[in-house]
Formats: sequence, structure tokens, C-alpha cells
Amino acid sequence: MPSRSKISLSEENIEKMEESSVQFEVLERKTLEIVREAGEKGVLQKDLWKKLGLDSRKGLKIVRKLEEQGLILREQVVLRGRKTYVIRPATLLQKETTLPDFLDEIPCFFCPNLAKCASGEVDFLECPILRRWLTNG
Ligand code: SF4
Repeated sequence: MPSRSKISLSEENIEKMEESSVQFEVLERKTLEIVREAGEKGVLQKDLWKKLGLDSRKGLKIVRKLEEQGLILREQVVLRGRKTYVIRPATLLQKETTLPDFLDEIPCFFCPNLAKCASGEVDFLECPILRRWLTNG
């Protein structure tokens, strides 16, 4: 008899996990779209749940993640005597920033291997392109 403490992931379970993570990403994108379209006025949390077709538990999970990433802001308001939340895009409150020109020259920004470097597949410490830029720049 297999031990209860062992977790085995069948292909079916892995598929379900991948499917639910894709669904979560789609819902995140849809949430951002709705919030950005609402603009400065924002969208009431309960209206957001309706538009997404989600219950508050699932909706909150998505909103909290986007809030943690600094993409949206959630502000408590009182509407007809009841507490609720308005959700707005965070970018509206951010000041425009001008980046220094030298950042345009960093080779990584134009490199087809950027994703591989970010994942650790390519070791940036061994990269001749970056080394050349650092020593000549
Ligand atoms: S370190 Fe090199 S390989 Fe990695 S992204 Fe920068 S230029 Fe590309």
C-alpha cells in the first residue's frame, strides 16, 4: 500500500494544474483590461466579479496578485452605507519617468537570448557581448 505522505502527480493532475494556471493568467489579463478601461473612475469590486463571471473568493485571489505586482490599486469606499472597494489601474498614479539614455545601449535589451539568460539557461557572467559592452562602454 502506498504511503499517504507521498504526493504523486499523474499526467492528468499535471495537465489540470497547467490548465488552471493558464486560466488564471487569462483571468489576470482580462481583469487588467477591465480595470484599465475603467480608468480613473475605477470599477467596483462586485461589478468586476460580475464581468469576470467569478465568485469573490476567486476574484480576490486575482486582484490581490495584481495588487502585489503594483498593477492595480484597491481603495475602500462606502457606497449606500456599505463598505466596498474600487479598483483602479496603478499606472494612473505613477509619475512619468525618463530613463537615462545609456540604458538604450545595454545589449541585453535587444538580445534574443534575454529569456534564456533570465531563466539561467545562459550564464550572463560568461556572455562575451555583455563583457564587451561593459569594458568598452
Ligand atoms: S547577458 Fe548576453 S546573452 Fe544574456 S541577455 Fe545580455 S547580451 Fe544576451
